[in-house]
Amino acid sequence: MNNLAFATIKDLRTKLDNKEISAKELAQFFTQRFADHDSTIQSALEIFQVDSVLNASEQKGTLYGIPGLIKDNISQQDRGLTCASKILQNFTAVYDATATARLKQEGALLLGRANMDEFAMGSSGETSAYQITKNPWDTTRVPGGSSSGSAAAVAAGLVPWTLGTDTGGSVRQPAAFCNLVGIKPTYGLVSRYGIVAYGSSLDQIGVMTRTVYDNALVLSVIAGHDPKDSSSLAVAKKDYTASLDGKIPTGLRIGIVENALYADGMDNEVITAIEQAVKVLEGLGATIKRIKLPALDYSAATYFIISRAEAASNLARFDGVRYGLRDKNSASLHDMYFNTRHDGFGAEVRTRILIGNYVLSAGYADAYYENAKKVQHIMTQEFLDAYKEVDLVIMPTAPCAAFKFGAFAQDKLQMDLQDYFTCAANLTGMPAIGIPCGMTSEQLPIGLQLYGKHLSEELIYKVAHAYQEATAWHTMHAQI
Ligand code: GLN
Repeated sequence: MNNLAFATIKDLRTKLDNKEISAKELAQFFTQRFADHDSTIQSALEIFQVDSVLNASEQKGTLYGIPGLIKDNISQQDRGLTCASKILQNFTAVYDATATARLKQEGALLLGRANMDEFAMGSSGETSAYQITKNPWDTTRVPGGSSSGSAAAVAAGLVPWTLGTDTGGSVRQPAAFCNLVGIKPTYGLVSRYGIVAYGSSLDQIGVMTRTVYDNALVLSVIAGHDPKDSSSLAVAKKDYTASLDGKIPTGLRIGIVENALYADGMDNEVITAIEQAVKVLEGLGATIKRIKLPALDYSAATYFIISRAEAASNLARFDGVRYGLRDKNSASLHDMYFNTRHDGFGAEVRTRILIGNYVLSAGYADAYYENAKKVQHIMTQEFLDAYKEVDLVIMPTAPCAAFKFGAFAQDKLQMDLQDYFTCAANLTGMPAIGIPCGMTSEQLPIGLQLYGKHLSEELIYKVAHAYQEATAWHTMHAQI
């Protein structure tokens, strides 16, 4: 049975179809994995009772019987939905997110709720109000964030797939830290209906798995137009696994972003791993071009302003009146708002709300928010221009491998720079995948990213899959 822990969805599908194992046995096996191992890594905020999981899903479909975990900012009807925040401690989701509903329709077993940075704000998992998820590769280190629990659970072999959300890198950066595949789809490809908004113009649900094939399989289930999300694109559903044949398209051109790879503060082992990956891609037939995307140097600063501005607006709804926590000892309505928000939000969230309101405020919006929107526009144009010369762009996912807990406690700027390579995908709306591409001398995973133009998921998956067929990084597992 134990070889099931790190089995791919594809393997589990075969075992289920051949009746070597039943959906119930799989649900029991993986809930037992959580019972045995999650006290160490603390990836789940809740694991549901097996029968309720089986009852909630269809008994057929592409993902029939395949267990997974959902980040706790994506609604699962009648289950808790806390965003790892005290302000939503006792909140229950009243409906399914579209992604959740589609997974249930295809028979996926939704085992529980994954821990995260509070309201998806963070790069380390350290801002969760409830528990601190550990990296299964080294429990003294962070799993990355904000989809910390989603990453750690897959890396520890507790489930073969999870959903996270990615507003600035929260699927791809933890995927890199935990040796996983993580995709941030094109903005509008996956419905945002039923996710708790952080930065509405940037938020996308993403999938985390150990292989590219599995990732494409889950995205195929959740992607596609949804009338319930006004920003959902009019794209039909497709099977992203169909074109995964281990080959890359002939004549494929990949751009190495020089100002990203050789940016200040880059870990040398990350640079070497990316350079080696580029050689592998060349070996598969890709033509490599060296390109520059100057606006990328302003990505983290631009993201900082836009994400805080949108967060301040989105989080205004948590006022003690409609959702979650309400301070009962306040003498006036104003005090109730104040005390609820002060006690309910953690320090990181409060800081971001303050910054967001500041950058939007009269007299400052021109200097901050409006300028950030201009840089965002320039950056998008630079990427579009680059795609006239190359088909995909390669970049590191993060400047370093997983860091120790508390490493940036005194240096928040360094923490914010974690978003440097990832947030451009959110700011431009373009898709990007993170895949494993190496190990440091301390046996910590390193990840690379492939960026593509809007709605190029099929190409991204095809090339990433070919890379995995040619390498073994993704087959390495944490010792759990
Ligand atoms: N690290 C980024 C932040 O804290 C990304 C978060 C995300 O993608 N949800 O905002």
